[in-house]
Amino acid sequence: MFGFRNFMAGRYGSDALTYALVIFSLILGLLMNLFRVPFLQLIMLLPLGYCFFRMFSRNIERRAAENRAFLKFWQPIGNWFMGRAARSQDAAHRYFRCPKCRQEVRVPRGKGRINITCPKCGNKFIKKT
Ligand SMILES: [Zn+2]
Repeated sequence: MFGFRNFMAGRYGSDALTYALVIFSLILGLLMNLFRVPFLQLIMLLPLGYCFFRMFSRNIERRAAENRAFLKFWQPIGNWFMGRAARSQDAAHRYFRCPKCRQEVRVPRGKGRINITCPKCGNKFIKKT
């Protein structure tokens, strides 16, 4: 293990993009398995190869910039999924969008038809909870 640590000294190592590439390559592998096209399965090695290239790279600044670019792209998607997950867990509330400004409004569930006032633009709309 010491030899490996020595080998990794001054190299970039793993980050969020590393894990994303591994997962992406596994998904590709599964998809390719589904279609059973010979040799096409090898394209799953591309993200994996890139992932290893990044881990052993000595150009740390460049790799960090790649990771930042990836996070910038991924964060809105990740947040959207986390938001969806949180909402589906939330049995006590319903979520509506203000028809005027698209602001999301959370209201308690099971109150019948209620008059909702948008906290952002003050627009009033009626929804059934
Ligand atoms: Zn509004």
